[in-house]
Amino acid sequence: MKFMPRSAWDARGPKNITRLSSARGVKVHYVGSPVTSVPAAKCSTGCRNKVRSIQRQHMDSNGWSDIAYNLLVCEHGVVWEGRGARVMSAANGSGLNSGHYAVCALLGNKGLVEPSDAMLNGLRDAIEYLREHGAGNEIKGHRDGYSTDCPGGPLYAWVRKGAPRPKGSTPAKPTPPKKPTPEPEINPTEVMVKQLPTLREGDRGWHVKTLHYLLLARDYGGLDGVDDTTFTPAHTNGVKGLQDATGLKIDGVVGQKTWAVLLRVA
Ligand SMILES: [Zn+2]
Ligand SMILES: [Zn+2]
Repeated sequence: MKFMPRSAWDARGPKNITRLSSARGVKVHYVGSPVTSVPAAKCSTGCRNKVRSIQRQHMDSNGWSDIAYNLLVCEHGVVWEGRGARVMSAANGSGLNSGHYAVCALLGNKGLVEPSDAMLNGLRDAIEYLREHGAGNEIKGHRDGYSTDCPGGPLYAWVRKGAPRPKGSTPAKPTPPKKPTPEPEINPTEVMVKQLPTLREGDRGWHVKTLHYLLLARDYGGLDGVDDTTFTPAHTNGVKGLQDATGLKIDGVVGQKTWAVLLRVA
């Protein structure tokens, strides 16, 4: 809650105070006269002046002891302290002030007439604040029990719905958990290919034997009776045939690309 205590708007002291330690709930009001919208950057001066002028009118013109409302809420969702918590308001009408505390939206019947989401959230903040200070669960409009248009059509409709917070405002949406970056798929054969030595004619060893039987497995017929541990010209021919058939460079040398074809990785 963005809360502006009386000191922040330089409130005049009340002429007298009637304590009200608890009530059935809260009644919602609006200013009712034409209200001009204030840019958010001007809230601390523009909205402050609105609150100050309401107090002046209530004390000097109406002769009341203080600004009538317990709390006021501007279009930017700031909650301005009026009489404050656990004090009887003068807003609901004679005989109705001990039943409910009073919260006023700085909303008019001309100009600024539609409550912003920020204002609805601020009103909800104000109601919850009063609930923590003696207010029961009832949420009503000024017009409930008193002949007035207050708090105006849009706000009264909201009150009748139970004064809900606007959709998507609070609670703050939890940020969805980040998808873990998938591990790159490791192809074990590919890893093996990278560990195989480059072979050429004349080489010997068990890798040559592997090459020998891979060529046989591919139906290369030139290896009958050929030593399977030495890279012979017969093997070179077999490798060249394979390279030719698969679009590789035909050099008869078994490097990574040729190994990959032999092992059917590529
Ligand atoms: Zn009212
Ligand atoms: Zn404001």
